[in-house]
Amino acid sequence: MPNQRSAVVVGGGIGGLAAAAALAGAGTRVTVVERAEHIGDVGSGLVLYPNGVAAADAISPRLGGRVRAAGHVVQPGEVRLLMDKTGRVLAEEPIGDQSERLGAPQIPILRTDLQAALVDEAVTSGADLRLGTAVSGYASGADEVAVHLRDGTTLRADVLVAADGINSTIRRRMLDDGPPQYRGYTSVRGRTSRSGLPQQSFVANGRGVQLFVAPVGGDTLYWTCKITARPGVWPERSPQRAQLALAGLLGGWHESLVRLVRMAEDITVADIHDRDPVDRWVDGRAVLLGDAAHPMVPAMGQGANMALEDAVVLAGHLGAEPDTRAALAAYERERTDRTAKVVLASRRQGSLDQGASRTQEAERNAFIRTAGRKDAAADEVHGWRPAEPAPADLAG
Ligand SMILES: Cc1cc2nc3c(=O)[nH]c(=O)nc-3n(C[C@H](O)[C@H](O)[C@H](O)COP(=O)(O)OP(=O)(O)OC[C@H]3O[C@@H](n4cnc5c(N)ncnc54)[C@H](O)[C@@H]3O)c2cc1C
Repeated sequence: MPNQRSAVVVGGGIGGLAAAAALAGAGTRVTVVERAEHIGDVGSGLVLYPNGVAAADAISPRLGGRVRAAGHVVQPGEVRLLMDKTGRVLAEEPIGDQSERLGAPQIPILRTDLQAALVDEAVTSGADLRLGTAVSGYASGADEVAVHLRDGTTLRADVLVAADGINSTIRRRMLDDGPPQYRGYTSVRGRTSRSGLPQQSFVANGRGVQLFVAPVGGDTLYWTCKITARPGVWPERSPQRAQLALAGLLGGWHESLVRLVRMAEDITVADIHDRDPVDRWVDGRAVLLGDAAHPMVPAMGQGANMALEDAVVLAGHLGAEPDTRAALAAYERERTDRTAKVVLASRRQGSLDQGASRTQEAERNAFIRTAGRKDAAADEVHGWRPAEPAPADLAG
C-alpha cells in the first residue's frame, strides 16, 4: 500500500492492544511498544459490558467470537444477587435481559483470556509487538512523530497512540497535570476455582467493604473486593498477606465468602485512583487512549470497556479522514464528553458502593433495594454503539 499510515502504540494493555487490532485491521502499519517482557500474565478478571462487547465486535467479529468463547456469556434470565455481608438478598439485578434490550450481553472474562484474544487479533491483523521496550518521550513534528525509547533509539510514525496507563509517561509530557488522586479505597482481586459456590454473579456489601464476584467460565469465579483504607496500607503487603488480611476482615461475613477468598489464586492489590476529566488528549500527532486519557475508579467496571470504545472510535476517524490531525481532533471531540461523564459517574458510584459509615451503608443498601440494581447510571453507559463504520468495513 503506497500511502499506508503508520502508528506506534505505547502500551500492550487492553487499550493498546485494542487500538493496535482496530488500526491494523483498518490497514495501518502498527508497532506496539510494551515495557514488560510478557503481556497479560496478572490480574484476575473483569466484566465486558454490552458497550465493550459491541466495541470488540466492531474491531472484528473474530474478536467478538473469541471473547464470547473465552468468557461467561450472561444468559437471558440470569440475575446478579445483591446481598448484605451475611448473604441476605437485598435485590436481584436482571443482568440477563441486557442482551435483548441492548443487543449485546455482559461477559465476565479473565484478563489473561481477554489479552490473549487481543494479542492474537492484533498480530493476525499485522501489528508488530516489541516487548521489553520502554518509551521515554516524544516529539511531534509537522509530518511525523518521533517516539523516544529508553534504550536511546527513536521510532518514527504518522501517529503516536499513548495507551501507557494511569501513570502515563506520554500524558505527563503532554499535559503535566500531576499524579492521579487516591479515592479512599483499595482493591484486592483474585480468582477462585472449585469454590463450591454457584457460577453466578453476586455482590456482597459490608460497611466500607464491597465484594464483587462473577463467573468467568468453567468452575472459576473472579472477585474484586474494594476496601475503604488509608493509601498505601494494603499495597505494601505481599499478595499472600493481603489475602490473609482480607479473609480476617471478612470475619462475620457468610462463611462461603471467606472460603472464596482463602482459596483464591492470582491475588492483585492496588489502591484506587482517578483523575479529573480533561478535554485535551491530543498534541500534534500524539493522542491519549484508555487509562492514560481517562483513568476512572472501577466501581462501574468501565475502564477497559471505555478503552475498547476509544480504539474503535480512533480507528474509525483515522480510517475516514486522510488528514491525521483532523482525525485525532475528531476522536478527541467524540470521546472526551462521554468518558468525562463515566469518570464522574464512576466516582459517585464508588462512594455509594463503599458505604463507609453507618449512615452511608444504610443509604447504599436502601438504594439497592429500591433501584433493584447495583449501579445508578447503568443503561446509558452500556447502551453505547459505534457511530462510525467499523474498521473492518473501511479496510474493505
Ligand atoms: C480492581 C479493578 C477492577 C476493574 N474492573 C474492571 C471491569 O470489570 N471492567 C472494565 O472495563 N475495567 C475494569 N477495570 C479497569 C481496567 O482494568 C483498566 O481501565 C484497563 O485495564 C486500562 O487499560 P489500559 O490499556 O488503558 O492501561 P493498562 O492496562 O494500565 O496498560 C498500560 C500498559 O502500558 C505499559 N507501559 C506503561 N508505561 C510504559 C512505557 N513508558 N513504555 C512502554 N510501555 C509502558 C504497561 O506496562 C501496561 O502494559 C478495573 C480496574 C481495577 C483496578
